[in-house]
Amino acid sequence: MKLKNLIGLILLFISATSFAQKPINAIGLATKANSNFERIEFTRHAVGDNDIEIEILYAGICHSDFMVKQTPNQVVPGHEIVGRVTKVGKNVSKFKKGDVAGVGCMVNSCGHCKYCKAGKEQFCAEGTVFTYGFPDRFHENHITQGGYSNVITITEKFAIQVPKNADIKKVAPLMCAGVTTWSPIKFSEVEKGDVVGVAGFGGLGHMAVQYLVDLGAKVTVFDITDDKSADAKRLGAEEYVNVKTTKDLSALNDKFDFIISTIPANYEPMMYVKMLKMDGGELAIVGLPANATIPVSPFVMQSAHRRVYGSLIGGIPETQEMLDYSVSHDIYPEIEVIKAEPKVIDEAYENIEEGKVKFRYVIDMQTIK
Ligand SMILES: [Zn+2]
Ligand SMILES: [Zn+2]
Repeated sequence: MKLKNLIGLILLFISATSFAQKPINAIGLATKANSNFERIEFTRHAVGDNDIEIEILYAGICHSDFMVKQTPNQVVPGHEIVGRVTKVGKNVSKFKKGDVAGVGCMVNSCGHCKYCKAGKEQFCAEGTVFTYGFPDRFHENHITQGGYSNVITITEKFAIQVPKNADIKKVAPLMCAGVTTWSPIKFSEVEKGDVVGVAGFGGLGHMAVQYLVDLGAKVTVFDITDDKSADAKRLGAEEYVNVKTTKDLSALNDKFDFIISTIPANYEPMMYVKMLKMDGGELAIVGLPANATIPVSPFVMQSAHRRVYGSLIGGIPETQEMLDYSVSHDIYPEIEVIKAEPKVIDEAYENIEEGKVKFRYVIDMQTIK
């Protein structure tokens, strides 16, 4: 090969790789311990051959986003993401430019352990890379940044295909609240006619009620206020129990095939365990009370064949299944859309903490400046 040609080739190679590896500039709303939200500029990893770039349109605010308020370093939270695909790597087959894509709580995993092979990437034996606040070992251990942002880059495998007829802004919360409730309902094989309970009627709980009602189960909602009764009934619950004011709950014991607890605060789980039917009743715990331990009495379970288990989000195939089901059955979260301004997000967090919001806030990321 002539030297001139070789140099030409090298230059071509350099320009091609430098183009391919160019990080993507992003804007986000970040926070950390003892501080308010702030606008920050940062970079996302480049669009690799298997990656897509998504212009984020909407991001839901999940209760677990509050965990960034305990971190020393500023992080952009948000793992309920939906947006439009703006770039695709050369090996990408699931998406093309202009498609709508969703991103949930995970952005990568090893891909070869038994859990990843089974489509349960949330249990990856080598460690799941979560959407924000985690070192991304596939990209020089940069800390991942979440969806309160204008753009994200992600391997196509961890992006969810959003059906064309979906209500896009309502899709965002499905990426966490949807799949977190869907997964245990499927795991416990809830079916038509089952007697089921939903403990805690907020962002997660109101999704659980809708899935359970749609499956034909008889739903009772448990919460600690009377305000939510009308909404629970509107979404199809048959009964609503204020567990704070109901003096005697013993009439409910041994009645339920399945109860899902979405309660994000400290509570007494044995009350719900006792409500499970003997010989197979199951309590799924998905709520994350901060710093809580959940005391369960072995006696009550051993003597009755009741099961208590934890459930963490859901795998990628399951998330796709949940989204397709939700859209085709017209099951969506109830949302309030807010602007992507630091002050507005601060207020939203206050309202969530004070229990002033119904269900889910969704940030319109197109309004970020
Ligand atoms: Zn979440
Ligand atoms: Zn794995």
